[in-house]
Amino acid sequence: MTQHYLFISAHLDDAILSCGDYIHALIQNNYQVTIATVFTGMGTDLSMLARILHKKFGLGMDTMDVRRQEDIHAAEALGAAVIHLNLLECIYRKNKDGSPVYSKLQNLFVAEVGSEHEVIEEIVSVLSEQIIFENFAGVFVPLGIGRHIDHCLVRESTERYRLRAGTDGQIRLMYYEDLPYLCFNQDITWRTELAAGLHEQRIKLQYWDLKAKINAVLKYGSQLSLLWPSRTSMLKQMEKHARGVAPQSKLHPPEGSDYFFKVYTADVNEPIPVSEIRT
Ligand SMILES: [Zn+2]
Repeated sequence: MTQHYLFISAHLDDAILSCGDYIHALIQNNYQVTIATVFTGMGTDLSMLARILHKKFGLGMDTMDVRRQEDIHAAEALGAAVIHLNLLECIYRKNKDGSPVYSKLQNLFVAEVGSEHEVIEEIVSVLSEQIIFENFAGVFVPLGIGRHIDHCLVRESTERYRLRAGTDGQIRLMYYEDLPYLCFNQDITWRTELAAGLHEQRIKLQYWDLKAKINAVLKYGSQLSLLWPSRTSMLKQMEKHARGVAPQSKLHPPEGSDYFFKVYTADVNEPIPVSEIRT
């Protein structure tokens, strides 16, 4: 039977931005992949911050419809299935008095997960209602590099869900590095704080996996201008990131060469799909 892997994504783009090349390699090796994105719901009565971001996306009240479509096209380009869980991302969340939980962009990167315990419960509940984790050979979650509150909430909720389900041994949890936040180099303590107790595992990928990822990332048209000043800078960043973990010299061009994709596991002997085939 084909093994099926689940990637949990905070926003519509995270899993493919971070792991699109690995997802491509999995699918090319006859594994099935589903990407479940948690925050895909559309807010109402938008805050100033949400309006500013919508303007940057070049979208209006159709923002999440467009972003969900972009995600479907990006996943299709790789051959992955998608699930949209439709919770509200941080810029749409409101306090009980109706005021926005986050009114400044920088606050999203310094908030503590404990301050959003209701959202954690919401994620745990939606995950348990809509996804049967035991059906998947493994579940990939973001480490939370960059400390975006939504990424940290997704990690925390998945860990809680796994613990509560009492199926510790059955649900294999693996962690991925959050891109582009890793490339911003601003979260200098992620290794000691977010990857503490985890083991880095390397999977050899090929340049065409990277090409497939870039092709899929380009489907997220509304997000490109928010994350990078130009398409060229996105391409350069993706290539630089891959080249940085290439087995050859840093100066070696990635074209035609292999590079490593990294995942993190609690168990050093955790079998990682594709690595056994390609290394
Ligand atoms: Zn994100």
